[in-house]
Amino acid sequence: MLVAIVGRPNVGKSTLFNRLTESQLAIVHDEPGVTRDRVYGEIIWNGRTIPVVDTGGYVPHSSERFEAAIREQVDIAMEDADVILYVGDVTTGITDIDQEMADKLRKDDTPVLVVANKADNDERRWAASEFYEMGIGEVFPVSATNGIGTGELLDALVDTLPEEEEEEDELEDRTSIAIIGKPNVGKSSIVNAVLGYDRSIVTEVAGTTRDAIHSLVNYEGREIALVDTAGLRKRAKVKENIEFYSTLRTERSIREGDVCVLMIDATDGLQNQDINVLKLAEKHKKGMVIAVNKWDLVEKDTKTAKRYEDYFHKILQTLDYVPIVFTSALTRQRVYKVIDTALEVADERAKRIQTSRLNDVLREAVANHHPPTYRGGNYVEIKYVTQVRENPPVFVFFTNHPKGIKESYKRYLERQFREAFGFKGVPLTLVFKQK
Ligand code: GDP
Ligand code: GDP
Repeated sequence: MLVAIVGRPNVGKSTLFNRLTESQLAIVHDEPGVTRDRVYGEIIWNGRTIPVVDTGGYVPHSSERFEAAIREQVDIAMEDADVILYVGDVTTGITDIDQEMADKLRKDDTPVLVVANKADNDERRWAASEFYEMGIGEVFPVSATNGIGTGELLDALVDTLPEEEEEEDELEDRTSIAIIGKPNVGKSSIVNAVLGYDRSIVTEVAGTTRDAIHSLVNYEGREIALVDTAGLRKRAKVKENIEFYSTLRTERSIREGDVCVLMIDATDGLQNQDINVLKLAEKHKKGMVIAVNKWDLVEKDTKTAKRYEDYFHKILQTLDYVPIVFTSALTRQRVYKVIDTALEVADERAKRIQTSRLNDVLREAVANHHPPTYRGGNYVEIKYVTQVRENPPVFVFFTNHPKGIKESYKRYLERQFREAFGFKGVPLTLVFKQK
């Protein structure tokens, strides 16, 4: 499920994005041509969490360039989004490019809601009905700056969305692996290397999100689905759209996979954008592997891999449980190790630990380092723990003061569990309940 915000430059897309996601993190600039920080966020409305992307990037200065960029953004959104918010500006009315986009959108079956933005007052709200002439969907007069009209828009958006997807993890034996990462790191190359494993048994199956197509491959007797590999071959042509496109693809692939393999280029290192992808995967409780590709380009001695690993673990901080594989899609060095590691992580994610073993570790952890007292001397006791689900794993701890367990103590317990039980590359969910 994904909502895309599209429209001409300066109609207020970013302002709307911030308003709907109630975040002031993305920077809105008055002058066009400035890079934006964030294109992905979440709308929380009527109990639903709705991923949304702003067409973001920066807006090319020249009018032909921005028109080309918008055309392509609308194409990408029609292909990948479940609902499009087409934003227009009531102070300018419908322009030629709006008209042209309307012609495109009318031919597609993606639902569109038209946001007539900058409808800050009654007079402007009346002017908004002009946008019905576009003939692509219901029109919502909105003021992104003061919030008027956003409630009606969000109600309609929730009504338009497809039903929430069921998690089908347990129903299938198949392991889904999503290869993600910035353009040019070697995703297609590694996928081709793996698919080449036995060409004859590669089949394509539909994914759960719009138009996603997975390649099925039989690997060492296991069925694995490489998530949305068809999408890897497609590229945004307009430079400014590359980020928008890859954000859409990344978000969608993360949701489709059991395990995400984040590929990076060894010569680039681990960048903020990569960490953000891992955080997204962690939030979705997916298994994770880091594949450091183009290892052939790195000058090495016997300690190089170790040095890289230490350096990565340092910047990964709380994500330091993610395994790292050094590989080269070009020379095929450790290409299968990447897949083997992803499968190991998938197995770890599906693991269930006996309650007695969990409690042995818990007792010892508490004995070595007792939780601090809560609110002036209340003794915090953790009575027992049990794993309530796997795939992804969730542990429930029963305590007399759930609020008395601080973040740092949770991380301590998590580390003890990892030490005792592994869970390599798997985000753990620790829940504390009153008892
Ligand atoms: P984008 O290029 O479509 O993402 O547009 P921005 O969100 O960067 O906004 C462009 C300009 O329009 C900024 O100066 C905003 O402050 C202004 N703007 C955005 N929404 C509204 C609105 O609802 N009312 C008014 N009056 N101005 C707005
Ligand atoms: P994608 O955009 O992430 O799918 O990246 P591609 O698979 O298209 O690869 C981008 C470029 O990097 C191509 O020119 C590849 O030949 C090259 N490449 C991919 N993997 C390796 C590798 O392991 N070593 C080297 N030296 N080049 C690679």
